[in-house]
Amino acid sequence: MNDVTFKTTPPLGTVIMLQGQRYELVATELYWRQDGHPTVLLCWQSHCPDCAAPFSVKTGLRQRYLNRRCPTHHKSGVAVVRSRKVVYRRGHHV
Ligand SMILES: [Zn+2]
Repeated sequence: MNDVTFKTTPPLGTVIMLQGQRYELVATELYWRQDGHPTVLLCWQSHCPDCAAPFSVKTGLRQRYLNRRCPTHHKSGVAVVRSRKVVYRRGHHV
């Protein structure tokens, strides 16, 4: 497993292992895409393999790449694939 693919929002506390690195789901956020459909952001917490510092990363339900390092180390020689820029609006409460 080296990417994130969920059909439905996983419960908080869900742990995934990506290439040996552990990510724990600590929060979810709802946002509205530009096309008007709601979707979910998943907030994962992990630890940098270089310095063991905790860091968090947000993904959608499907994400081909997760940041594996803390902000200090994540630029060091690792190809970072930026996800499509998604414009969304906050403040939609049901
Ligand atoms: Zn680090």
